[in-house]
Amino acid sequence: MKELIDLIGDPSRVILENIDETYQTDSLGRLRGIAEALVFVQTTEEVRKIMKFASENHIPVTPRGAGTNLVGSTVPQEGGIVLDLSGMNRILEIDPDTMTATVEPGVLLCDLQTEVEKLGLFYPPDPGEKTATIGGNISTNAGGMRAVKYGVTRDYVRALEVVLAGGEVMNVGTKTVKDSSGLSLKNLLIGSEGTLGVITKAVVKLIVKPAVSVGVLLPFKDLKTGIHAVLNVIRGNIDPTAVEFVEKKVISLGEEYTGLSFPHPNAGAYIILTLDGEDREGIERRIEKLREIAKGCHALDMLVLTDPKTIETVWTIRGCLVKSVEAKSEQIPVDIVVPINKSAEFIEYVHEVERETGVSMISFGHAGDGNVHLCVIRGDRSEEEWKRLSEIVMEKIYDKSHELGGLTSGEHGIGLSKKSYFLKAASKVNLQIMRSIKQALDPENLLNPKKVFEE
Ligand SMILES: Cc1cc2nc3c(=O)[nH]c(=O)nc-3n(C[C@H](O)[C@H](O)[C@H](O)COP(=O)(O)OP(=O)(O)OC[C@H]3O[C@@H](n4cnc5c(N)ncnc54)[C@H](O)[C@@H]3O)c2cc1C
Repeated sequence: MKELIDLIGDPSRVILENIDETYQTDSLGRLRGIAEALVFVQTTEEVRKIMKFASENHIPVTPRGAGTNLVGSTVPQEGGIVLDLSGMNRILEIDPDTMTATVEPGVLLCDLQTEVEKLGLFYPPDPGEKTATIGGNISTNAGGMRAVKYGVTRDYVRALEVVLAGGEVMNVGTKTVKDSSGLSLKNLLIGSEGTLGVITKAVVKLIVKPAVSVGVLLPFKDLKTGIHAVLNVIRGNIDPTAVEFVEKKVISLGEEYTGLSFPHPNAGAYIILTLDGEDREGIERRIEKLREIAKGCHALDMLVLTDPKTIETVWTIRGCLVKSVEAKSEQIPVDIVVPINKSAEFIEYVHEVERETGVSMISFGHAGDGNVHLCVIRGDRSEEEWKRLSEIVMEKIYDKSHELGGLTSGEHGIGLSKKSYFLKAASKVNLQIMRSIKQALDPENLLNPKKVFEE
């Protein structure tokens, strides 16, 4: 491993001893591996040299962005090198003619959003954790709140520069809008969680920043009524940007965590919407339509969020839900996605499992696209009891989601922690093809081994 210092030429960026534990885990810190080296790369050439060295010496490599994933995907499960790309953090170009930005993989989502918005442009993918890197977002096909209207990260990737396991540099895609030229290698790389190649550059699509954005809060007596309303909102031709649902009990935790007070405290659940567009009149018309839909769906009220302080309160509490749950108890995050017309049935089933097992589950998430986030709460259970009960609960809810035509993960990825549920649901033929692709791109199985589709 000492040769890595010669390859990089800067000993301060190659750590071979006392590697900080943060770099050997994910953002939850429960699953851990033991790396033999941690390298902070700064250029594609350095990545190329390291992959060549790793390939010649059969050393596993775990690529890493900001390490905000929740599924163990940055755990160096087989040891080897952790390749930290967070230092490759330059925005190389913002091109208003082709409406694209060219970035290094370590650029933070919040930085890209800020820089393009200064020019009146907009990068729509908006997962909750803004300090994640664009490389990490692409590698997990990150989603977020605005997916209802704008789609997910995949829809914004035009081109990638990728270093393959043997050190070859591959370019896929271009700045063009269209591409019917052969198999889409770009789309294979997106969402591959560092198992197929190391992304060293990306060209992403931008749009014009919407001129007006308005938030609306719909309180409901309970979650069931709120979730049933979502389909009518989606069908109502009001083109929402985000449609989020939250149960009151999660809001209470968020209030306790932030010291803020959520509006309309007497509801059992809330739907939070945003509408954006070019002019206020158009949005007003859509708000009036929404008012009719809300009445028909038994909303207790409809609050158009105009006061900046209320807007900030609503989104601050919505943004800190996972942290406010974690402040109380260990939890297992779940981001199952079901067809949107099955969300209510799925959440009703979750409540049934809560009653049956006594394990409390808090639900919130992206109601507009069927992506249900659950925090499965440990409480004060012993290690043994928690292991036993959580396995039962997980098995039940993943089985149910698959039965309803859903998927193991809508946006967080599979990593290590959801692998068993993914492998159980995936068809043999799909797994065989995934493994053949892995074999073709990484024949020695060096890139992020033991993740996603591997036993
Ligand atoms: C509070 C909180 C809220 C969150 N909310 C959301 C949400 O709303 N939606 C959502 O989608 N996610 C969410 N996440 C999860 C997380 O932020 C995303 O998965 C994010 O995309 C990970 O980016 P990262 O830079 O932290 O990547 P990392 O965690 O460092 O890595 C994630 C995966 O990508 C691979 N990888 C990273 N960079 C590269 C690269 N350059 N080349 C190849 N592989 C690479 C890694 O090997 C790993 O498999 C949330 C996380 C937290 C903590």
